[in-house]
Amino acid sequence: MSKNAKTRSRFLKVKCNDCGNEQVIFGCAASEIKCIVCEKVLASSTGGKTLVKTEILEVLDKNI
Ligand SMILES: [Zn+2]
Repeated sequence: MSKNAKTRSRFLKVKCNDCGNEQVIFGCAASEIKCIVCEKVLASSTGGKTLVKTEILEVLDKNI
């Protein structure tokens, strides 16, 4: 029932180890994140925590 709306979201800039594509992903994603180019799994969700499986280039803190 409760809806937690966080005011701050963390975004990560990552690089795909397979094809070299760089993309920005949401650091608190609830589901798998795939490379938009080759569909390699870049991050997966484990118990509410995002597990990044590729190279993190930058952490972008964004205030919404
Ligand atoms: Zn890729």
